[in-house]
Amino acid sequence: MAVFLVFNFMENNVLVWFRNDLRLHDNEALFNAINTQKPVLAVYVFDENQYKNTNLGFPKTGSFRAQFIIESVQNLKENLKSIGIELLVYKGKSVEIITNICNDFNITEIHYQQENTDEEIQVEKNLLKTLHPSVKLKGIWGKTLFHIHDIPFSINQLPELFTNFRKKVEAQSEVNKLFSNSVINNKLVFENKTQVPTLSELGLPSITISNKAVIQFKGGETEALNRLNHYFFETKSLATYKITRNEMLGANYSSKFSAWLALGCISPRFIYHQIKLFESKIESNDSTYWLFFELLWRDYFQFIAVKHGNKIFKLTGLNDLQIPWNNHKTDFEKWKLGQTGFPLIDANMQELLQTGFMSNRGRQNVASFLTKNLGINWLWGAKWFESLLIDYDAASNYVNWAYQAGVGNDARQFRYFNIEKQSLDYDPQGKYVKHWLNGIKNLPNSKALFPYKLSVEEQSQYCFKLNEQYFEPIVNLVKSADEQKIKYEKVMRN
Ligand SMILES: Cc1cc2nc3c(=O)[nH]c(=O)nc-3n(C[C@H](O)[C@H](O)[C@H](O)COP(=O)(O)OP(=O)(O)OC[C@H]3O[C@@H](n4cnc5c(N)ncnc54)[C@H](O)[C@@H]3O)c2cc1C
Repeated sequence: MAVFLVFNFMENNVLVWFRNDLRLHDNEALFNAINTQKPVLAVYVFDENQYKNTNLGFPKTGSFRAQFIIESVQNLKENLKSIGIELLVYKGKSVEIITNICNDFNITEIHYQQENTDEEIQVEKNLLKTLHPSVKLKGIWGKTLFHIHDIPFSINQLPELFTNFRKKVEAQSEVNKLFSNSVINNKLVFENKTQVPTLSELGLPSITISNKAVIQFKGGETEALNRLNHYFFETKSLATYKITRNEMLGANYSSKFSAWLALGCISPRFIYHQIKLFESKIESNDSTYWLFFELLWRDYFQFIAVKHGNKIFKLTGLNDLQIPWNNHKTDFEKWKLGQTGFPLIDANMQELLQTGFMSNRGRQNVASFLTKNLGINWLWGAKWFESLLIDYDAASNYVNWAYQAGVGNDARQFRYFNIEKQSLDYDPQGKYVKHWLNGIKNLPNSKALFPYKLSVEEQSQYCFKLNEQYFEPIVNLVKSADEQKIKYEKVMRN
């Protein structure tokens, strides 16, 4: 632990433990800590468990996300300092570090936002065991738009169908007001020598987001609030969100709030109240409602994670379905690297690889392809997303994956995305696939979606050779989906 120039730490002090709530606005834990009227200190730990390698050989937290976290913590540190609170930043074991801080700084209360998935809950439990009994752990629920106590169901009774959840919540629940930023007169003044680690200190290679990216994401509350202002009030893109949200290319087809929401750089309640402001001042329409609707999906998956606990990380999913997945490493590698021979899949996987982001449309297609065409262990796909996505959130990622794999909530029948139809519906001009795949960029737009359908004559006409400039398909789309369907239905019958 770093050496501090410590002044007057004999008083009882209060600690705010930041994890996925990296903001000052609408932050209940911070609000509660300040309102104790005691001196306040803050901490963020880059927990070493999050920076290990997975059993598949790639980092659990890859460079894109780690960079986004670094930027967010740096911004939090600056913003906290501007209100007189020091943020201590460490890398290591959360429980050990926080216990030491409590001893060194005479901490009597720890305020924090509770998590809802296993690894994170385990840290809270271990902390409780290790802390001196005089230290009070004060967790609040703050991840969702609707407070977990304000939804009209007990968690065990949460509907397995989103529509049933949505209708009742819309009819019976209210979004709470924002927590205001309190003023603090902090007496805890000392020289804070801790620093936000670099990527290499976290054991990760440096990385830059490709300049082909739809957006150059930068972490932190300040950037998050700028993005909201840009999307809502500068460009008024919110007014067309419902029409554009399924697109794949462009900065403003969707809000791009996800990464900031995942780390809590922006509060879902704040977004909601800004939607209401937009509706009263500018325009209220289907699109403004639809962003709220998507935030409800986010809430739903957070609550599903609470209801089903560790099942969201299990291969058999929420309903213990014993689907015989395969562990075909070569095909998995091709999927990861965007070398499957299907431009819609490969372009999306390239976007992920080069930027740490992918549209919702893309995610649904690549997840369906991995699980319904290749029949590969869905947890592998989820772990690859976990490693790469800057907006990775345990509940959103694993529950969406389980859903796409057919082992999530509402698993009733074999549903899959028809990749060729999806390509025609969402990228009819081939603009998106040509943006990401150099091998097909000289093909005419109408031919770029399905290079495997080009005759030998067409290939020579366009100076293109399948298997040289671009990959041959690794699977027959129709046959593979039929085979997977048989396996799936057999399990569903039993
Ligand atoms: C296989 C798969 C994995 C996913 N993994 C993640 C993940 O790790 N983290 C994550 O935030 N989202 C995840 N999503 C959901 C969704 O793809 C992203 O939230 C969305 O693409 C982010 O872009 P946006 O912020 O522009 O979304 P917008 O369309 O602008 O939506 C607004 C917000 O609503 C929420 N939202 C929208 N759709 C969903 C959804 N299906 N599930 C949960 N929240 C949603 C997000 O917080 C998003 O920022 C996943 C989806 C799939 C199919």
